[in-house]
Amino acid sequence: MKARDFAANDPFDVQNQPPPLEDYNLWEFDRPARDALALYCDDNSGAQADTETLSYGARLGRAEVLRLGELANRYEPELRTYDRFGHRIDEVEFHESWHRLMSLSIEAGIHSTPWTSADSGAHVRRAAMSHLKHQVEQGTSCPVTMTFAVVPSLRIQPEIASVWEPRAMSRQYDPRLIPAHQKTGVLFGMAMTERQGGSDVRANTTRARAIGTRGPGNEYLLRGHKWFCSAPMCDAFLVLAQSEGGLSCFLVPRFTPDDERNPFQIQRLKSKLGNRSNASSEIVFDDTWAQMVGEEGRGVATIIEMVRHTRLDCTLGAASLIRRCVAEACHHTAYRYAFGRRLIEQPLMKNVLADLCLESEAATAAGFRLAAAFDAAQHSEDAARFARIATAIAKYQVTKKETDVAREAMECHGGNGYVEEAPIARLFRESPLNSIWEGSGNVQCLDVLRAAQRDPETLSLFVAELDEARGGDARYDGWLDALKDRLSDPSDLELRARRVVEELATGLQASLLVRHAPAAVSDAFVASRLVGERGRAYGTLGRDVDFDAIIERSLPQVG
Ligand SMILES: Cc1cc2nc3c(=O)[nH]c(=O)nc-3n(C[C@H](O)[C@H](O)[C@H](O)COP(=O)(O)OP(=O)(O)OC[C@H]3O[C@@H](n4cnc5c(N)ncnc54)[C@H](O)[C@@H]3O)c2cc1C
Repeated sequence: MKARDFAANDPFDVQNQPPPLEDYNLWEFDRPARDALALYCDDNSGAQADTETLSYGARLGRAEVLRLGELANRYEPELRTYDRFGHRIDEVEFHESWHRLMSLSIEAGIHSTPWTSADSGAHVRRAAMSHLKHQVEQGTSCPVTMTFAVVPSLRIQPEIASVWEPRAMSRQYDPRLIPAHQKTGVLFGMAMTERQGGSDVRANTTRARAIGTRGPGNEYLLRGHKWFCSAPMCDAFLVLAQSEGGLSCFLVPRFTPDDERNPFQIQRLKSKLGNRSNASSEIVFDDTWAQMVGEEGRGVATIIEMVRHTRLDCTLGAASLIRRCVAEACHHTAYRYAFGRRLIEQPLMKNVLADLCLESEAATAAGFRLAAAFDAAQHSEDAARFARIATAIAKYQVTKKETDVAREAMECHGGNGYVEEAPIARLFRESPLNSIWEGSGNVQCLDVLRAAQRDPETLSLFVAELDEARGGDARYDGWLDALKDRLSDPSDLELRARRVVEELATGLQASLLVRHAPAAVSDAFVASRLVGERGRAYGTLGRDVDFDAIIERSLPQVG
């Protein structure tokens, strides 16, 4: 069909509107993600994982499942403070679509696989499944991530982990607010942030008073207020509070050991820009029963294990949202005609799309590399050090790109992109969140500096990863030499931290693409991101780029 063929004078004939991107396999046409999965799995487990994700991708790509994402965000959760008889209940009611999306996540083991599987690549396999699920809906990813991430912190207190971990690892989603031991599966949340400070949790004022003997595993009562507590319908939370010995970590269940409702007042739900399916609340602890997890006064060191894993998911989630935006943009422009040709065929639009595809390639490569580092960290101290610094570097970079890509992908849709019926508007509203929570951009940069200062080997290991790509592209080698010179300058590091982290992150992405991506992708990435042949906006790649080859790898196909 050509623009000149459009029938005239029939106001009821809908022409030149692309079909919705649905009833397609989310995994099948995502070449960057499939390549990344294959890279970190051996032939046997890679083929098995690919089959698993293909099947999940087909399921999630069905129109009715994609619609759940829209519904869960349109019909927002509602707080029920009291029941009809006046009893305080502090419950949140969700739309049916939320529960279906939660089931789809929990049944796939996105909250559990690395802790329940003997597979040495379980983090990577989970990353692939989460890459798919997060494209459908992001709010439900919050409690799923927190339930996944809590395990390493819980294990610091083995007698508590032995009770709670099996419940949390169940593949049955059970939304009932009843005592945890009566449930077929439980969910975890976290509450650190207070009004006076989120980044600086040492300013927390919530108090913890020992009921009897003080110390790890013992019982306490908490009193205080938390300014952000997402997914308050979870069954238990890790919470920071000040005890006699300093800031400590506590497990707070919704029910006491006597099966009574634990005082856990939900004051209100936040009205948010995006992430609307998810309830984010302000809560009050009023002599709330808790158990100490980890050493007294070592609350940050205890909960940081959980935070490290939620930060991994911020990166994976951002790469996933970028993928969905790019898929939507490629699809729309593949069907939409303007000035007699499909948009995707027009040189300037090709430039925009290829640039967005490069961002998606780089985000995906970084996310899967990070997941592989979490796998390796389970048996290698060096891998753990690499993961420590790479988590902050990747989170900073990939989450910052999320909004840029969502905005540009929206523009590819023209006016349709700005209308709420199109998924792209929701994705755009969601897109700033991953860079704000779990440590905002500056906090990640300061974390990189702290890691490098406390243990310089972490930075050396990171730079060694960049060195791995030497010999693949002379421009990259030259850039890396210059980067090393810049890194040797210790002056004003805090002031320059964003620039330093940005360079390290771009270097990691380039290193991965030079080693593992097709030449069309790595050439264009190095030329545009490292050696400066690019303007500020997307769509400013140089003329030597193989635009079609890059777009082809990310173009979804319906039917
Ligand atoms: C939708 C949503 C859900 C959330 N859910 C939860 C939850 O479930 N549990 C929970 O505990 N928290 C939750 N949070 C809170 C979130 O983690 C915090 O908002 C975040 O950590 C930042 O803390 P803050 O809001 O107090 O900002 P601040 O700490 O005041 O920071 C403001 C800005 O200052 C920057 N900054 C801080 N320190 C420095 C420094 N030294 N140098 C330079 N810049 C600095 C930060 O990077 C940030 O950009 C949620 C937030 C949102 C938006």
